[in-house]
Amino acid sequence: MFVANDQRGNQLNVAEKKWTIERLRKLKANSTFICPQCQNELDLKIGSIISAHFAHKKHSDCPSNKGGPESQYHMRGKLELYDWLQIDENVTHVELEPFITDIKQRPDLLIKDHQQTLAIEYQCSPIDLNILQKRSGMYKKANIPFLWILGGKLLKRTGERSFKLSQFQWRFTSKMEDGSLMIYAYCSKIKAFIILRTIIPFSSQVVFANQSVISKQTISFTQLIRQQSCSINFYENWFHKVRAFRLKPFPFTTKQANTLNQFLYQTKHASLLYLPSHAFLPLKYNYLIESPVYVWQGWVMTFIDEVPLNSTFSFHYIYERTKKKVKERLLSVRVLPQLNVHYSKVIYEYLEKLSELSFITKVEYQIYEKHQTTNWLTNIDELLNRDEELMKELKQG
Ligand SMILES: [Zn+2]
Repeated sequence: MFVANDQRGNQLNVAEKKWTIERLRKLKANSTFICPQCQNELDLKIGSIISAHFAHKKHSDCPSNKGGPESQYHMRGKLELYDWLQIDENVTHVELEPFITDIKQRPDLLIKDHQQTLAIEYQCSPIDLNILQKRSGMYKKANIPFLWILGGKLLKRTGERSFKLSQFQWRFTSKMEDGSLMIYAYCSKIKAFIILRTIIPFSSQVVFANQSVISKQTISFTQLIRQQSCSINFYENWFHKVRAFRLKPFPFTTKQANTLNQFLYQTKHASLLYLPSHAFLPLKYNYLIESPVYVWQGWVMTFIDEVPLNSTFSFHYIYERTKKKVKERLLSVRVLPQLNVHYSKVIYEYLEKLSELSFITKVEYQIYEKHQTTNWLTNIDELLNRDEELMKELKQG
C-alpha cells in the first residue's frame, strides 16, 4: 500500500512524485507509520524493485491483507492506474487507497468529483468469495458504485478466443446495456487493458469472448467505461470447440451430462456427442445457466422432440419442463449477485433463435410451431457438415 498515517495522524502518500529517495529516508527515520484500517504499525519499504510502499509487519490480520499481502504485480498495476486516471481531464479528483470510514473499506482507487463517485478495486489474486461478496455488499450499502478490474495475469487462456473462468473470476463480470457480460482486466506487464466482451460459456468454466487488448496510453478512463457491446466474432472458434467435443469423446464425469447421455441412449440410441447442431448455440444469455450449453440446450431439444409434428407449443411449456430439470438438479442455474436476471430469459432467447434459424416457426408472441421432426443423426461426418452449415448461417446473422 502507498498511503498511511503518521504518528500525528497526517496522511502520507508515498506514491506522490515529490518523494525522492533522500526525502523518503528522512521520513522513515523520523516517523512512525500507522495503517488507517487496522491502526497497526507499518514498515516503509524503500528501494525495492517497485516504488516505495508500506507493508504490514508479519502475521498481521488486517482486513486489507485478506487474500495475502499485496504482490508487486498488484502494486505496480495500481500505481499505473492511479497515474493514468490523473491524466484523464474528465476525472477531476482521484484518491489512492482512501479509507472510507462508514463502511471500513479501502478501495485501491476512488474517483470522487462532482460528476461521479466510483470505487475501483484491482484484484490480482483470488480472494475468498465471501470476502468479495461482503466487500461489494458494503459498497452497495453505501451507495458507491464500484468497478472491479482483474489482474490480467489471472486470465487463463484456453484457445484463441476462449478462456477458463474460475468461480472467483465469474464474480468480476459485469453486465452491459444489452445484457451481455464483460470483464475488465489490466496487466502491468504489457501496460494494457484486456477487455472481454460478449462472454458466452460453453461449459461451466470455459467461455468464449470477444477480446480487445488496449494499451493504456491509447484509451482514457472515460472511454474505457463507455465500452459498447458487440456482436459475436467467435463463431468459428466456437464450432471448432463443438467439433473437438464430438470427435474427442471424454467420459462424462458429471451427473448432469451422464443423465442426459443415458436418456438419449435409451430414447434415441444416440449419445451426447450426436446432439443436433442446434443444441450448441452461442447465445448472449447462455451465462444464466451454469450447466454446459449442450446439456441444457440438449434437454430443450428433447422437449421439442416430444411435441407432435405440426403442433404448437409455448415458451411457458418449455420453461416449465426446464424448471423441473433445475429442481431435479439435472441443470444448474448460475448464481451471481451482480446479475439480477432470471434464467427464463435464456430459454426465451433460445426459442427465438431457433425460430430465427427456421428450426421451429414462431406463430405469435411466445408460441411456436414444430414443422419438422428432429433428425437424430448418428453419422459424425454428416453432423460435422451440419455444424459447419449452421456456423455459416449464424455468421451471416
Ligand atoms: Zn492494516
